[in-house]
Amino acid sequence: MKYYIMFGPPGAGKGTHAAAVREKYNLCHLSTGELLRAEIAKGSELGLHAKSLIDKGSLVPDSVVEGMIENQFNEVKGVAGFLLDGFPRTLGQARDLDAILAKRGEEVTAVISLMISDETVKQRIAHRAAIEGRADDASEETINNRIKTYHTQTEPLIEYYKAQGKYHEVQAEEPTIEQNRAKVLALMETIEK
Ligand code: AMP
Repeated sequence: MKYYIMFGPPGAGKGTHAAAVREKYNLCHLSTGELLRAEIAKGSELGLHAKSLIDKGSLVPDSVVEGMIENQFNEVKGVAGFLLDGFPRTLGQARDLDAILAKRGEEVTAVISLMISDETVKQRIAHRAAIEGRADDASEETINNRIKTYHTQTEPLIEYYKAQGKYHEVQAEEPTIEQNRAKVLALMETIEK
């Protein structure tokens, strides 16, 4: 099985490009953000607890997202692999993911990192707020917090995966989705070879 990680700051296009990659390579796209939003929509206890953290732009506890990911690894059948979007987001999650995969005799295949500037993050999220209506896209304070959270807690993963020789970066600042998608798909082809 393949285990790809779609990595990058909020608004980099992880979910958007994951859709194209999933289809082409028969992968299961797992977005921890979407799984959490589904829990919020259901009104579950987990969702209720997660909502207060998400609305502030903070991360939910590692154990919560790791549990959701492991459940999906156990349940989903008939795919060539998984495409993780928005997970891992902390060094703890990255180490735990390695352990979860090792138990299954598997490992991370590659990390596809979508790089955009903080300025572009703000522009993209402002644009998305009008389209998707996500509560955590609507407040400037929450967006700034998510950017800060990305730099302090998530960015260190770049070195972690570079050290494993699994890190691949795409400059995802092209003006259109199509141009950025073409770069991501070209990178996937070199990795899959
Ligand atoms: P996303 O849809 O990936 O932008 O995620 C939306 C929000 O869900 C994030 O700002 C976090 O509050 C929470 N979240 C998503 N994935 C994770 C994760 N791997 N670890 C902790 N919190 C997460």
